[in-house]
Amino acid sequence: MNAMDPGKSLRLLRKVRDVMAASAKPQERLDKIVRVIASGMKANVCSVYVMRAGNILELFATRGLKRKAVHHTRLRVGEGIVGDIAAHAKPLALADATTHASYTFRPETGEEKFFSMLGVPILRSGNVIGVLVVQHAEKREYIEEETDLMQTVAMVLAELVSSGGLVEAGELSTVDGIGLLPLRLEGVQLNGGLAIGQAVRHQPYIFVRNPVAEDPEAELLRLNAALSNMHSALESLFSSSGLDAGESGDILETYRMFAEDRGFVRRIRDVVHTGLTAEAAVQKVQEDTRVRMLQIPDPYLRERLHDLEDLTNRLARHLSGDVKTAAEMDLPDNVVLIARTLGPADLLEYDPKRLRALVLEEGSQTSHVAIIARDLDIPVLGRVKDVLNRIDALEQVIVDADNEQIIIRPGDDALQVYKKNIRAQAQRLAGYEAIRGRSAETRDGEKVSLNINAGLLADLPQMHATRADGIGLYRTEIPFMVRSSFPDVDAQTKLYKKVIDQSKGRSVIFRTLDIGGDKALPYMRLEEQDNPAMGWRSIRIGLDRPAILRQQLRALIRAAAGRKLDVTFPMISDVSEFLAARAVFDLELARARSRKQKLPRKIRVGSMLEVPALAWQLPALRPHVDFISVGSNDLVQFLFASDRGNPHLSGRYDPLSPSILSFLRWVVKTCDDLDLPISLCGEMAGRPLEAMALVGLGFRSLSMTPSAIGPVKYMVLTLEEEPLRDYLDILCGLSDHSVRDKLSIYARDHGITV
Ligand code: PEP
Ligand code: MG
Repeated sequence: MNAMDPGKSLRLLRKVRDVMAASAKPQERLDKIVRVIASGMKANVCSVYVMRAGNILELFATRGLKRKAVHHTRLRVGEGIVGDIAAHAKPLALADATTHASYTFRPETGEEKFFSMLGVPILRSGNVIGVLVVQHAEKREYIEEETDLMQTVAMVLAELVSSGGLVEAGELSTVDGIGLLPLRLEGVQLNGGLAIGQAVRHQPYIFVRNPVAEDPEAELLRLNAALSNMHSALESLFSSSGLDAGESGDILETYRMFAEDRGFVRRIRDVVHTGLTAEAAVQKVQEDTRVRMLQIPDPYLRERLHDLEDLTNRLARHLSGDVKTAAEMDLPDNVVLIARTLGPADLLEYDPKRLRALVLEEGSQTSHVAIIARDLDIPVLGRVKDVLNRIDALEQVIVDADNEQIIIRPGDDALQVYKKNIRAQAQRLAGYEAIRGRSAETRDGEKVSLNINAGLLADLPQMHATRADGIGLYRTEIPFMVRSSFPDVDAQTKLYKKVIDQSKGRSVIFRTLDIGGDKALPYMRLEEQDNPAMGWRSIRIGLDRPAILRQQLRALIRAAAGRKLDVTFPMISDVSEFLAARAVFDLELARARSRKQKLPRKIRVGSMLEVPALAWQLPALRPHVDFISVGSNDLVQFLFASDRGNPHLSGRYDPLSPSILSFLRWVVKTCDDLDLPISLCGEMAGRPLEAMALVGLGFRSLSMTPSAIGPVKYMVLTLEEEPLRDYLDILCGLSDHSVRDKLSIYARDHGITV
């Protein structure tokens, strides 16, 4: 198939524009437009399907199919080829549609006469609101330019479809009946917390009034001016954010990089050259990006595309001369910000004093905006399906990120309960604040070291804010997971150095890379395994691919020059494995020494205890190891043979069971006898009741998520350890499935705050 005449696409776009500009009823316009497109594309058929309530695609206009089918032919999303295009939000070009798996025959349309078919989704804000189709009688291939042209026309049509008149605007959403009753939607916790506030949509909608340009050169000038305005606005935003340190700084840097990305600007310019106005071109690139985003399984890349999309929104606002997001409008005092997705810079534009919570239709734990929100201590609920369609501006909402839900238009009962919870939460926080300066010591004088688990630079300020004793577990894989490629030795050195610098002399236990299982690196494909948690993961990969481990250890040794270095290896199963890992470390140390590098002042090398088998080799391990860190998340899953990530099994077994408690009691005793320091850094350590049991079993060092430091310290301060130890001896001998209730009653009876 030959390339398309560029004049042809421009002519077609102009005709579409003229139809749009002429005064006519929306249905008449649509009827005219299908005629114009059919003739411009030399097609036998052009049809427009519009999405109606209940995810039904209705034939709204056609040139070439039987007239009586209009408003009668209806397809469900996913049904037939048109339904397939809507379901995947993706164009389909078929030389012989009759052989396609989704082909369905509708006799009322008479379409059996047409073989080839090119269909594109009509998109608005990433939602499919219709489908535009052309068909040809003969079997023919469609070329890329034709698909591009159809997508551009679809974009123009999106204005017509969504501006009302064809169907009620409300119907274009895929909502089946919004009542005024309270509505509860589920999401995913991206940052915990609880808030009550008024819904504010981040993005008031911008309509592209004129999609077709008379003078592309003038449009390019407008585009350049808008780009440079946007750059200066972003620069001043970044410099005034005060967040230019650590991880947040890295994120803003990525964002800045996108803003200056030539590829991104070139794509917009290319579209302007096809005859669109600058704002229409930006919108087209944005819709294309969204569609690409939907198809990318890789979470890291999807996140980067979010940033790019955020940028296109910003640019569109500069072009339309209407630079307002909700951030620049009069806002209520208690804003619950609602957005499909949000870039980090967008969030920084809001007055943090008014911002109570953030609710996103998309987003993930690693999304940049979630990381920034954590810095700002704002609860974030992500992946709340369809929330934008289900909420009106300024409606009251409760965001319960801890329980992964949002309640829209809550009833009085729910409001009272949540208000009470928020008051109790504030009181608790004030209580933690009051004990911040105290060291964690039981009533009978046992000191317990409380440390935080960390993985991002953004976590480090928490160590100081909570007055934790140090970082008991630095999961080095987390920074690897949010990158697009393996960081080299220099990049790693820089990162670890920052961690050591920012810890200001407190201890940091760096755990070497623990990947595999549920922790994937986007750029390192591991083959499918039947049982990944027990498969090729963690130190097993490290020992089989020693270059990765060596580079990491080299970076750690360099970063800790002249200072303390604590390193631990994950998933060690026996002494020989530890010795092999330690040998790699010693090799790197010898290398550094031979190069006359400055060495760490003091080195401690430890082992995680996550695989039960190692527990019986602790005496044999003792001469080689400086400390043990119990990873109870993995240890418990292996002791119970119960996958920690399987939702069917969550809650089935309790770490507060006689078997687990007996095992841990024995391990602590063994380590004490060997004079081997031991700590525990799994999730157990951060739950006050579990932490109480751990202290009773003899643990004197725990590492946990930063927000748990306050509650756990409270527990320690109210605990008398010795009687609990005796009670645990009794509990360990019982036949109960769980001793949780017994421990709770014990805590209540002894005035221990858990
Ligand atoms: C653990 O298994 O308890 C642990 C701390 O490691 P991770 O949760 O990173 O596997
Ligand atoms: Mg583990």
